[in-house]
Amino acid sequence: MRATIDILSKLVAFDTVSSRPNLALIEWVADRLAGEGIDSWVQHGDQPGHANLFATIGPPDVPGVMLSGHSDVVPVEGQQWRTDPFVLTEADGRLHGRGAVDMKGFIACVLAHAPRFRDAGLKQPVHIALSYNEEADMHGMRILARHLASVPLRPAACVIGEPTSMQVVVANKGAAIYRVRVRGHSVHSSLRDAGVSAVEAAAELIGFINRLGLALRDAGRDEAFEFPHTSVHVGMISGGTAHNITARDCEFVFEIRSLPGVSAATLLERIRDHAESVLLPPMRAIAPECAISFEEIVDAPGLDERGNRSLAQALMPLCGCRAPRRVSFGTEAGFLVAAGVPTVVCGPGDIAIAHQPDEYVAIDQLDACSRFLGALTERLRASPLT
Ligand SMILES: [Zn+2]
Repeated sequence: MRATIDILSKLVAFDTVSSRPNLALIEWVADRLAGEGIDSWVQHGDQPGHANLFATIGPPDVPGVMLSGHSDVVPVEGQQWRTDPFVLTEADGRLHGRGAVDMKGFIACVLAHAPRFRDAGLKQPVHIALSYNEEADMHGMRILARHLASVPLRPAACVIGEPTSMQVVVANKGAAIYRVRVRGHSVHSSLRDAGVSAVEAAAELIGFINRLGLALRDAGRDEAFEFPHTSVHVGMISGGTAHNITARDCEFVFEIRSLPGVSAATLLERIRDHAESVLLPPMRAIAPECAISFEEIVDAPGLDERGNRSLAQALMPLCGCRAPRRVSFGTEAGFLVAAGVPTVVCGPGDIAIAHQPDEYVAIDQLDACSRFLGALTERLRASPLT
């Protein structure tokens, strides 16, 4: 456990908030693996300093079991931390630090276990995969999955180590995020009817999105999820410059968390249609430059459990999980499934603590993850998992 904690403290010390480069962390991991005789491949992303890592331990000519984690973390701005978020701090059996639970704890367990994978004489290899920008646009896994889909020997299975308290998760909701920009027409507000307030038009559209959310609550429930319906949420808005000027610009960001099988793109079309057919005509009658545009920030498909049942059955005894779970948070799993890699989610710690100030992972959860990796090693020494 000491080795795992040492690695975790190193990983936490890299400030890999999604908007910042993660390459220093990736290079540190590549060097560490190289020191253990394990080659890795660094896949550079479109933004400078952003990269994925992929390594194979075991026979190179057999499709392996991929252990996957995102290397980026969410920001700490605006949060009250009792300790430095980028210094791993141990207290009462918990390890505090940004990313400790989401999800550098899992990565630390896997890296600490690498020499055992190497020396075990595995029949089926293990792949270690680290991605970037999972907490932003998921670009890292998008390009890694695209690469894996194009190679002759893609992984046979994947475990994403997002925090599930070491339970096997076979389904998660999709997560799509969109930015909406509304262009109005500025006039002095005493001439209000000659102008178009972008703030008011945005508010109308948000009202429509909220009504759509209420309708979705009653339609298409899947009771296996804690929140058993597709949900929408407007999380950010900004617009306007003064109380006495009709706002020229307003933008807001909303998300759609969809049950597996529900298309966020179809819901987006309904919102876009309302904007174009109901809101825009009266705006343009006043000022032709008025506009409402939509930008997709991310559209991560959900994970549905049709393709991963046998994988889940094989893994559940290894981590002491009795019944597979479904979760409402988004993961990178949908990209891997689309690339033909059956995927489940299973990792140490509690998702409720992720993204919070004083985020932590319990040491006994890291211990449970290490025992799972030990059991997986024994399993892969005997025969391929799937
Ligand atoms: Zn995460």
